[in-house]
Amino acid sequence: MELLKRQLSLPQFTSQHQSLLTNACVSIVGCGGLGCNVALYLAGAGIGKIIFIDGDKIDATNIHRQIAYNTLHTNLLKVDILSTKCSQINTKLFYEKHPVYIDENNVKQLLHNSQVIIDCSDNSSTRILLNNYCKEKKKPLIFGSALGYDGQLCIFDFRKDDSKCLLCVFPDIEKVADTCTSSGVLGPVPGIIGNLQAIECIKLLTGLGSVLEGMLHYSSLDASFYTIKTNKYCTHSQVINKGLEIDYKDYLSNKANYLLYDIRERVDEDDSHILGANYERELTLEKIDNNKNILLICEVGERSKQIIKDWREKGFNNCWSIKNGFRGI
Ligand SMILES: [Zn+2]
Repeated sequence: MELLKRQLSLPQFTSQHQSLLTNACVSIVGCGGLGCNVALYLAGAGIGKIIFIDGDKIDATNIHRQIAYNTLHTNLLKVDILSTKCSQINTKLFYEKHPVYIDENNVKQLLHNSQVIIDCSDNSSTRILLNNYCKEKKKPLIFGSALGYDGQLCIFDFRKDDSKCLLCVFPDIEKVADTCTSSGVLGPVPGIIGNLQAIECIKLLTGLGSVLEGMLHYSSLDASFYTIKTNKYCTHSQVINKGLEIDYKDYLSNKANYLLYDIRERVDEDDSHILGANYERELTLEKIDNNKNILLICEVGERSKQIIKDWREKGFNNCWSIKNGFRGI
């Protein structure tokens, strides 16, 4: 196929690499500035199936960075126009479009067939949702963001056990509220980041080269790229566990990931002190480090569960109660 000729003539790039791309299915979540660039280049690279997910319509004020669209497309669905553009680049590929916003209820169904998920969204709740889904299903996630004059790129390759996750790199992501709508963005910045996302996707699918480690930061004003070192391994092994409780044995097998607080009424230092636990009868949210995974243990597991429930309602999620308490261990 003529379209792929220059790709196939690359050194090291074989027909086997191409067939890995041709047989691949990739989801692009968010069809804005990042998503446009990712989609057009992945169509050009011959990715077999691209799934577009975005419930939004085209707005003239965003076209400066959403390069697949023009003013005649105003108020049309992004997924319609973007999938049409891609099919004009490569008619042989399969395109699936979903004019919806991804959420807890549809995420599994929408992403079920995808090998790689590309996060081109612009809000932290979608980012956390994708992180948790990909972590659970062991699928690679390509994170990109562009805001103001700067952009960021990070790969979470959950095919590997204990890969770093979104919360390892951005512990405060739940508190981030900035979007391009409120802060503005220099148009070419999402272009740079979106193109990098497409390149990393090709590498993840073919095994060519080596995938980005750490977090890449691009600053357009001083024309610089730099990589920030990140945890290689996740310290949020329970991030997908939305339950209130975990078993004591799970804590024992993963001790380094948790900070355990013993909140029993009275602890006899000699007989019943739990090794490694901090004793704190009256523990409050203010007293704990909320970048850590917190575990509570009480006498029978009821009081600790109530406290965890209360903390979750206050928005602190990395906390669990030891099931059945001290008597259960
Ligand atoms: Zn993590």
